[in-house]
Amino acid sequence: MQNYWFLFHNGKLLLQKEEEKYTLPCGENPPLVTANPSFEAGEWGGIPCRTAEIDCETPSLPDSSPGEGEQFQWIGLRDSYDLIPHAAYRIAGKAEELLFWDRNTRFCPACGTPTTPDTAISKRCPKCGNILFPHVAPAILVLIHRGKEVLLVHARTFHKPFHGLVAGFVETGETLEECVRREVREETTLEIENIRYFGSQEWPYPSQLMIGFEADYAGGTLRFADHELTEGGFFDRNRLPTLPQKLSLARRMIDAWLESQE
Ligand SMILES: [Zn+2]
Repeated sequence: MQNYWFLFHNGKLLLQKEEEKYTLPCGENPPLVTANPSFEAGEWGGIPCRTAEIDCETPSLPDSSPGEGEQFQWIGLRDSYDLIPHAAYRIAGKAEELLFWDRNTRFCPACGTPTTPDTAISKRCPKCGNILFPHVAPAILVLIHRGKEVLLVHARTFHKPFHGLVAGFVETGETLEECVRREVREETTLEIENIRYFGSQEWPYPSQLMIGFEADYAGGTLRFADHELTEGGFFDRNRLPTLPQKLSLARRMIDAWLESQE
C-alpha cells in the first residue's frame, strides 16, 4: 500500500523536491530505513500518511533519487509551511506532535514500566494499566483593541524580532476567559473587557492548541511587569511593526483586524 512518509530527524522534515516543487516522499516503504515505530498521521489526497523518527546521528539521504531533477532535503517544520500544501503542513504538524508524544512516553509516568502501543493514539502500561494519550497544552492569544489601535508586543520567547500578541498557557483550574484576563494583567498590567472568541489553531511547537480572543482596553498604563515581554505598544494600521509569520494564528488575527477597517 502506498503511504506518504513524514520522516523527522532533529525536528526537520524530509521533503522531496521535484523540479521547483516540494512534496512528501510516497511509497510502500519509507525512503530511509528506521527501527523506530511508525504512526498513522492522517490522510492526504486519499493516501494514508505515516510518520517516524529517524534517529541515527547523520542519516544519509536516499541515494536512489526517484528521478532526474528530484532530490530529498531536510526542512524545518516552520519553513515547510511555505513549501508544501497547507493540508500537508497540518499533517506534518500532527506527525511531529505524535513523535514528540512517543519520545516522552517511553515509560509509564506512574510506575516506570516501559509502555506498549495500544491504539493509534494511545499507549498502555502493561503493569498498572495506565493509558497515555498525546497531551495538548492549551494557550491563549489576545488582540486588545483601543480605539483604532491594537496592542502588539515582543516576547522574550519569540524566535525573531517581530511583534505579536499577548499569550500564555492556561493554568489548572481556570477558564479560558480567566486565563486571558490573568495573562494580560500579569504581562502588561492593563485591564480589559468584552472578551470574545476569535478562533483556534493547532501549534505543533511542540504540542499546543492556540485559542485566540479579542478584547477591549478598559484601563491602566502599559507596563511589562513580569519581564516576559520586552517591548511593545498600541499601534494603528499606519504605523505597524514587523508582524508575525503568516503561519500563526496571531498573524491571522492581526490580518482580520486590518481587513475589517475601512
Ligand atoms: Zn504503570
